[in-house]
Amino acid sequence: MPVNILFAAHAERWETYENPLNTALSNAGVQANLSTDIAPFEVDYIVYAPNSDVQDFTPFTRAKAVLNLWAGVEDVVGNTTLRIPLARMVDGGLTQGMVEWVTGHVLRHHLNTDLQVLNQDGIWRKHIPPLACDRPVAILGLGVLGQACAKALAGLGFDVSGWSRSPKDVPDITCLNGDDGLQQALKRAGIIVLLLPFTPQTENIINAGALSLMPKGAVIINPGRGQLIADEALLNALDQGQIGHATLDVFRQEPLPPEHPFWAHDKVTVTPHIASETRAKTAAEVIAENVRRGEAGEPFLHLVDRDLGY
Ligand code: NAP
Repeated sequence: MPVNILFAAHAERWETYENPLNTALSNAGVQANLSTDIAPFEVDYIVYAPNSDVQDFTPFTRAKAVLNLWAGVEDVVGNTTLRIPLARMVDGGLTQGMVEWVTGHVLRHHLNTDLQVLNQDGIWRKHIPPLACDRPVAILGLGVLGQACAKALAGLGFDVSGWSRSPKDVPDITCLNGDDGLQQALKRAGIIVLLLPFTPQTENIINAGALSLMPKGAVIINPGRGQLIADEALLNALDQGQIGHATLDVFRQEPLPPEHPFWAHDKVTVTPHIASETRAKTAAEVIAENVRRGEAGEPFLHLVDRDLGY
């Protein structure tokens, strides 16, 4: 008997995922009926985007797991109708994309490339940046993405610290946790990268108090979630010169409304939530492996802790 897998996401995702998912399921030895239209009581697994039409999981009486297409789960984790395991997306392609985006934006600020790229004005202006070993970078969130970025930056020679909820031991990274650890990370961070999930505990973690701890002129890079930053406090800190620049990929409201002050601010770079995308081929392999595990009675990978919210 094939397993019935409902694909619950926007139509354009189906076009991208149908073939890679069928291939990955077949390669994983799973005989599957993958479709966007299966009677809820016959569904075994739900491949899911939180912005899909499926918001009430009650009718899916025999489903074994919801397999999220996204890394962030804030829009589904609190759904009280969801009583089966929820797996988030951990995808090698997505991780690699985030490493590239973060490294690129860290290097932009580290080298001050804007000075040359945006100022071809005939003036022989020499700017010698410090070496990476003299540029402290702090990464808030030392999970899958934070650790991958931390390792890449440390590999380039940056002085990297990372902060997480639980203690960590990552080679070449100064690992911090707890309130004291956050203060230490902020105080030393010339460049800070936010790779925390959005939870009640992380909302507005970069507020006026946190911003005042950072070295004057520090740079904030946020590919995590918009809610991590108190927007007004950031704008004030930018206007006062306490923060030198903010490169923001994620926002409380997306798309960022045209009238939002971030767009026009000369010390803010807005990118439209493109830091990293789930890549269909590699993501399909992760989903297929989880279906295989479910059918073999093995534990699912990348389960979300519903109490912690990520
Ligand atoms: P992850 O593996 O779950 O890692 C989350 C990290 O945050 C962990 O180190 C965790 O600590 C830490 N953390 C969570 N709550 C905390 C708290 N209250 N205090 C201190 N540390 C806390 O997640 P991930 O895969 O790296 O993804 C991180 C986030 O990136 C996602 O949630 C999503 O919002 C964002 N994202 C953005 C894009 C984009 O295109 N912009 C793409 C993908 C993901 P522990 O290690 O102790 O659990």
